[in-house]
Amino acid sequence: MADYDILVIGAGPAGLSAASYASRAGYSTAAIDSMGPGGQLLYIDEIENYPGLPSTSGYALSEAMEKQATSFGATIEFAEAKSIRKEGNEFITVCTDREIRSKAVIYAAGARHRHLGCIGEEEYQGKGVSYCATCDGPFFRGKDVIVVGGGDTALTDALYLSKICRTVTIVHRRTEFRGQKALQDRVFAKENIKLELGKNVTAIKGDGKLVQEAELSDGTVLKADAVFIFVGIIPNSEILEGVAELDHGFVKTDGKMATSLPGLFAAGDVRTTPFRQVVTAAGDGAEAAHAADEYIQDLD
Ligand code: NAP
Repeated sequence: MADYDILVIGAGPAGLSAASYASRAGYSTAAIDSMGPGGQLLYIDEIENYPGLPSTSGYALSEAMEKQATSFGATIEFAEAKSIRKEGNEFITVCTDREIRSKAVIYAAGARHRHLGCIGEEEYQGKGVSYCATCDGPFFRGKDVIVVGGGDTALTDALYLSKICRTVTIVHRRTEFRGQKALQDRVFAKENIKLELGKNVTAIKGDGKLVQEAELSDGTVLKADAVFIFVGIIPNSEILEGVAELDHGFVKTDGKMATSLPGLFAAGDVRTTPFRQVVTAAGDGAEAAHAADEYIQDLD
């Protein structure tokens, strides 16, 4: 006997959207997350491209999504999934402290920050090396900081930091950014954002307590009080290895979010998709819930 019709693993925008759609369709639904609801939304200071919401914080959007999902009857629980297996038509998700049985699983475990791997990065984590501008930016009010990366996150967070810090220097390994053009234009227009392009950060140095400078691949030394690293994401898909087909760690799905294992769906940043946005994650979640609905109906 299944505990739930649909188990959603991960409660970021993809998972919360899936939980909303699944519970609203009448299925008993739980969303589990080892960190609590919100996912990467919690790290976004301002979102201005979620349809219908001209400007909101990631936290506010996460709270609204959680409220909406629970209002339809979904339960949201703290739990860390350790493995997933299918026995007959039932999925068994093994968590740290229990097993959860369900008819279908929607995997929306998201992704985590990639590290740069340069000298000093690990040593100065929490001492000026950060992966979250919203969390740590306010500690560097009026200071000089470095942002590493050239994607949407680097550009969005450089803009955020430019409002707080004295200067923001973006160090990017290529001479072109991959981030959206609209963000690039805003970055180029900011007087206190400087660019060091075609260079890597090779070392982050300090006095042992706090970051003081970063060395670049061309020998340049930049004085800085913090180094914010935004060099991409790694999918949280380890527990699906050998369970469903992956592509460079990202879960392969079809247009209905179905993975290679029937009844297991994937949504959001963890799956193979060319564009990772809050709105696309939410869209994936809705699609996955709808596909899970069809799958369960076919079982009966
Ligand atoms: P991303 O798009 O993968 O960009 C990562 C950046 O880091 C790239 O510029 C890459 O350089 C650089 N990089 C990767 N490995 C590196 C290394 N070892 N050393 C130096 N630089 C390195 O990652 P992201 O910016 O975190 O974005 C992740 C996803 O979230 C994307 O799909 C993005 O569109 C989405 N997102 C959207 C928004 C928004 O809509 N406002 C905000 C944030 C994120 P290259 O360019 O040379 O490869």
